[in-house]
Amino acid sequence: MKIVAPLNISADEALNRLLEGNQRFAANQASGPNRSENRRLEIVKGQYPFAIILGCVDSRVPPELIFDQGLGDLFVIRSAGQVIDNAILGSIEFGVAELGIPLIMVLGHSKCGAVTATVEAIEKRLAVEGAIATLVENIKPAVNWATGHGEELIDNAARKNIALEIERLNTSPILSRAIKAGKTKIVGAFYHLSTGFIETIITK
Ligand SMILES: [Zn+2]
Repeated sequence: MKIVAPLNISADEALNRLLEGNQRFAANQASGPNRSENRRLEIVKGQYPFAIILGCVDSRVPPELIFDQGLGDLFVIRSAGQVIDNAILGSIEFGVAELGIPLIMVLGHSKCGAVTATVEAIEKRLAVEGAIATLVENIKPAVNWATGHGEELIDNAARKNIALEIERLNTSPILSRAIKAGKTKIVGAFYHLSTGFIETIITK
């Protein structure tokens, strides 16, 4: 994968592009850009996505749709509860180091099933089977923090989970170097299933 047209867009511009797309989507005015045959052929030469989205696997939160983007626009990585393992971290580092992507968004959402499952595992002291245990272990610190922090346990834990995942990304030498050099930026966002709106919760 090679960049054919270097991206000339700042992190803030990339974030605005996402938020504008989300406004269109939530207002039921999505334009479905960059989905034509021309676009498909144009990007055969190379990809230059403007944002990395680390999101949840939830079928109700597909990044290209909720941000009204198309082919070649977003570099999307998804796992349940957007839990980060080494393959996921490596994919994000690749997006920043090799493709020069100026924005990383960690995208959580309301009523997250992975967070709900973690809450149930803690409350009912369930033994979690298989590799699902990895998800629960990763989300647990956020649930423990959120317990006693307000009534909406699931959504509060989901927000805290986003913050902890950003902390984890910041421990990557490749990412922190790129951030210090002003080449990329990490933001946290929370998607509301009912309204379709994105709320940015961490921007620094
Ligand atoms: Zn989820």
